[in-house]
Amino acid sequence: MNAQDWLHEVEKRKDALIAVTRQFLQIPSVLDEQTARPGAPFGEEINRALEFVVGVCAEAGMTTKNVEGYAAHAEFGQGEELIGILGHVDVVPEGEGWSTPPFAAEIVDGKIVARGALDDKGPTMAAVFAAKLILELGLPLRRRVRLIFGTNEENEWACVERYFQTEEMPTMGFSPDADFPVIHAEKGLTHLIYRQSYEQHRRMSGTDPSPKGACQLVSFSAGSRSNMVPARAVAVIEPGDKTADELTRLFQTWLSEQGITGEAKEEQGRLQLSINGVAAHGSTPEKGVNAGTMLAHFLAKLTLDQRAAQFVSLIARYLHQQHFGEALGIAHDNRDMGPLTVNTGVMRYEAEGESRLDIDIRYPHTIRYEDWQPLLNRPFASLGYELEVMMHQTPHYVDPKHPLITTLQRVYTEQTGQPADLLAIGGGTYARSLKAGVAFGPLFPNREECAHEADEHLYVEDLLKATAIYAQAIYELANV
Ligand SMILES: [Zn+2]
Repeated sequence: MNAQDWLHEVEKRKDALIAVTRQFLQIPSVLDEQTARPGAPFGEEINRALEFVVGVCAEAGMTTKNVEGYAAHAEFGQGEELIGILGHVDVVPEGEGWSTPPFAAEIVDGKIVARGALDDKGPTMAAVFAAKLILELGLPLRRRVRLIFGTNEENEWACVERYFQTEEMPTMGFSPDADFPVIHAEKGLTHLIYRQSYEQHRRMSGTDPSPKGACQLVSFSAGSRSNMVPARAVAVIEPGDKTADELTRLFQTWLSEQGITGEAKEEQGRLQLSINGVAAHGSTPEKGVNAGTMLAHFLAKLTLDQRAAQFVSLIARYLHQQHFGEALGIAHDNRDMGPLTVNTGVMRYEAEGESRLDIDIRYPHTIRYEDWQPLLNRPFASLGYELEVMMHQTPHYVDPKHPLITTLQRVYTEQTGQPADLLAIGGGTYARSLKAGVAFGPLFPNREECAHEADEHLYVEDLLKATAIYAQAIYELANV
């Protein structure tokens, strides 16, 4: 069969594909701890979605297995090796601002509009129909093929964790849960928190008096998530022996030098300074303007009380405009995957409370975590800051010459007429839970990302195209 034949076969099944996809999308499969129980660990609706998709596969003649409601699979074909296709049936909550009900899955201007249309129930059903098509055509397979359905991708990935404790790891596979053409490299990712309590500060730095007439930093706050560049920062200070007017003038001069906006407000003898930065995703800190490190950079010019001086100068010296970890001594660049990046997403300070920095670091596969991670303690430990690793995922990389990749590239180009350049990203996709796995669709390069947003949608045309691509891909991977 050539590329056109695959699409033609899918088009013959178009009505059924759309109808079943809509039914699947009409199940509001959002995490619901209220209805969680053994066998349905993420609640009734997610479980209903899981049973629904497994039912479609069973009816098509695949052998199915449910792994305690954490995940399930449907298998067909024969042979020693296993091809895996990994999708998920859970969705993020609907949120506000929809123009049609998020679980009605209405078709508007050629698009199926629903929470989960793109992420990930639409493409998961595309993969199911692709598999069904191969079975219906009675095509020979030299390997087994397994569709694996996760249920907890939008939260902790407890689904694949449980699943792969007891189930076979596929020889190779793909996850239809990101972008076309092929994402073969994902940076390693870690979320770290530095914390220092007031007591730790006293213990490390004694009770040395702060400089005479120093400003007192009462509080400092920027950002709320490690993986975002903070767009706003606020500090409250007591002016010490400077007047509030003097400080305000200094601040405004500095703002105009930096070309950013902010405000100084006096209230009951205290001065509140705020600045506006530019938000960006934590994987590309250089694309934003970090309001928090900016404000710390300004405060570091003032004479502050001892603890505050340490806090702002740590940020100013090691984190302000150090998007690639230069001052921390961990900078590293890789031609395929790009540089190590550092984002300071949360900064908090309370004069007699906690001081805290949340940092998001992404790194390419050519450096080892064990080698650079210990360097992070150097400037902070002597000041009583403790480092906590909240999360760490190693880099995920599949060699461009791997038959998985060359096959998917060829299929994509045959089907679309477009080149299939490999993508390397700073984020993480579901594919990293497969040993040799890549993300493969469903979002085509000319389409706008709308996952997790209001009016999430999938073009019917793209659903058909993706199904044809997946069908050819599964067939060829099972026979390469
Ligand atoms: Zn997803």
